[in-house]
Amino acid sequence: MSSIFTKIINGEIPSYKIAENEDFYVFLDINPNAKGHTLVVPKKEINKLFDLDEGLYNRLMSYSRKIAKAIEKVIPCERIGMAVIGLEVPHVHVHLIPLQKMEDIQFIKKVKMSPQEFETTAKAIATNL
Ligand code: 5GP
Repeated sequence: MSSIFTKIINGEIPSYKIAENEDFYVFLDINPNAKGHTLVVPKKEINKLFDLDEGLYNRLMSYSRKIAKAIEKVIPCERIGMAVIGLEVPHVHVHLIPLQKMEDIQFIKKVKMSPQEFETTAKAIATNL
């Protein structure tokens, strides 16, 4: 069965999309730790980060860097944190999270965003790429 992220990539489930290229699809996390919390997902459905072939792994890091720089231009924060977990969705994804403090990377405190806020945030990041 396809992962929820494969369904998003295929357009079967909606998402607040930021960007895509041949290898990756980028969109806002629906339950964000902070405003601008973004997921970078390889289109190829692979469960674990370190099972990616080296080329795809390196391209994922490079593309995540590019996206992080765009997020940092849009969201006031100390820095962009990066996490890879995958315990909820077993399809590789990099979390890029604007950080003000340590808790923001801990997946404890969540922020509420309206559909309008999701929309404008995704658009603002996309236009700063
Ligand atoms: P992890 O697998 O790294 O533990 O967490 C999966 C992440 O994916 C969570 O932060 C969760 O909010 C996010 N997520 C799960 N389902 C969806 C979805 O349908 N849409 C979006 N945009 N994010 C999702």
